[in-house]
Amino acid sequence: MRAELFAREPLCVKCLEADVYTLATQRDHVIPLAEGGRDDQTNEQGLCESCHEAKSLAEALRGAARGRVVQNFGGRQRKPRPQSRIYGE
Ligand SMILES: [Zn+2]
Repeated sequence: MRAELFAREPLCVKCLEADVYTLATQRDHVIPLAEGGRDDQTNEQGLCESCHEAKSLAEALRGAARGRVVQNFGGRQRKPRPQSRIYGE
């Protein structure tokens, strides 16, 4: 599934939006599974490592905003802050 994705979309879609050409190395779910996304071809895209990291972090922060337990990114402890509004939600 992974090789198939990169054959179809060899470049990072986020970088492409900014007219930057970066090889995709990460298979990403457009809508995160944690937010109800499907685990199939209709919901996957190729991202480079830094875009994938940024997206994962944003998703984790959204999860924290909803009061979920958030994984530890980059070794720093982040306590969920249910009151805060992040990324316009
Ligand atoms: Zn990228």
